[in-house]
Amino acid sequence: MTIEETRRQRLAQQVGELKLDALLVTSLHNVRYLTGFTGSSANVLLYRDGPAVLFTDPRYTVQSKQQVNCAVRVAKGPLTKSVMKEVGRKRVSRVGFEPDHINVARMEGLTRALPSKSRLQPVEEGLIAKLRMVKDEGEIALIRAAVALNSQALESALKRFKPGMTETALAAEIDYQSRKLGADGPAFDTIVAAGERAALPHAHPGPAKIGPGMVLIDMGAFKDGYASDMTRMVHTGPADSVYKNAYNAVLEAQLAAIAAVRPGTTAASVDRAARKILQQRGLEKEFVHSTGHGLGLEIHEAPRLGKSDKTKLEPGMAITIEPGVYIEGWGGIRIEDTVLVTETGCEVLTPTSKNLIEI
Ligand code: ZN
Ligand code: ZN
Repeated sequence: MTIEETRRQRLAQQVGELKLDALLVTSLHNVRYLTGFTGSSANVLLYRDGPAVLFTDPRYTVQSKQQVNCAVRVAKGPLTKSVMKEVGRKRVSRVGFEPDHINVARMEGLTRALPSKSRLQPVEEGLIAKLRMVKDEGEIALIRAAVALNSQALESALKRFKPGMTETALAAEIDYQSRKLGADGPAFDTIVAAGERAALPHAHPGPAKIGPGMVLIDMGAFKDGYASDMTRMVHTGPADSVYKNAYNAVLEAQLAAIAAVRPGTTAASVDRAARKILQQRGLEKEFVHSTGHGLGLEIHEAPRLGKSDKTKLEPGMAITIEPGVYIEGWGGIRIEDTVLVTETGCEVLTPTSKNLIEI
């Protein structure tokens, strides 16, 4: 049995338990997870007893045959219509759908084409996301490769970095090195934020020249569909004590959170471990986001390592640990690794050093 078949079987069992006859999967990431199909247009109808049908459009006739080991229907018109034709033909009465992966227009299209004896029913949000949280061996290997590539790309880009370079030039260098090393592409828009601009947690690189001072670099690469994510700080010129103290506080918080990662503990308690350190340093209010997130086929997946996520960590979960502090008019510091939850604790996958870097 292929890994995709195993995943479909696990989901089909849940479909049965929910008293549905089939589940319509509209998230492309979930479609990929369940079938291996990587095209940009597809739905999957998964029956409670296991079989699945992939619906796509004529651009993907060849690709779907190569990638998918379940039934494929190539739709001539809207996918919605083909799906509902199948629902009518197979007399499927209760069809579940993913409420968090459908828009109003598509919902109206589905409802219009719904056979009179069938009924649509939303499943809980994140039903498949929960299955995807725990990675299998193959996925872990792909995440490891994406993480290693990302670290190599930073190393190569920093060799070519000179103070006075613009944020956009450094971001472009990072993307170029990453692609040259075999990345599918960036996992998100590379962040390079210098000086005061580092106070913006999701800064977009601009024409500002870098240095002297701090630079925040947050980068990720997709490799064979799987994401990596890392943030490192670089300081051009010698760092002052204010910077060093803040850097050490964030690093201590990050290490405390990593030390808290183990099976059975909640995502929220890992977040608390980081927050506690920053509180002791008087920097708790400057930590304006959660401590981390799951990653895999998407850069942000469940769980969310925030104050209210009660998800219990399990071996095989891939998460980021990334506390940060942001001070308007001064700058910001974030340190982020990709971490794998193991049977006994965790393994930090990111090999890049976290020693203070002064260039
Ligand atoms: Zn992240
Ligand atoms: Zn990041």
